[in-house]
Amino acid sequence: MKKVSFDFDGTLSNTDIQAYASRLIRRGFEVWICTCRMEDNKAPSPNWNYDLFEVAGELGIKRENIIFCNLSDKASFLANKDFIFHIDDDLTELSNLKDTDVIPVSVFGNKNWEQDCEKAIMLKINETKIQILFRFLDKNEILFDEWYIDDDSKAFDAIEEAMEYYAVKYHEDKCSQCKSQ
Ligand SMILES: [Mg+2]
Repeated sequence: MKKVSFDFDGTLSNTDIQAYASRLIRRGFEVWICTCRMEDNKAPSPNWNYDLFEVAGELGIKRENIIFCNLSDKASFLANKDFIFHIDDDLTELSNLKDTDVIPVSVFGNKNWEQDCEKAIMLKINETKIQILFRFLDKNEILFDEWYIDDDSKAFDAIEEAMEYYAVKYHEDKCSQCKSQ
């Protein structure tokens, strides 16, 4: 399994980073949250992590893929568990990862954080990018998307998966248009 880890506060709490995490999930990555926050039973109030669980729920990140470090060092939770990268806005947490198998990616003052994540992925796994163009027969627009595969024999499966994804999305859009009329 292709595993990646996201800090929450100042990282996955941002919508652009949530959108990237969502794209990674679609590409077949297992997205984890690794936060220095305290888990609910140790936190000062019962709703302490409400915002975090809300984002995790929207992205489809399972409860067992959320690590609460309870203020201790993240590197000890992430090392040697096959994580490709950990992205964070805390430079101390990132420098602690330098001697581990996890590639640290900073979002702190770094506009290129997404490219840095992609570089980490390229270093660790062998992925091929497929570019797909769709034209819906009743629409005058061309849709462009990129799909990723880790084995060339999966190319046709990826195209089928992409077609299914857009067919469902197209149907949902039509339904919502009908409802709003
Ligand atoms: Mg943070």
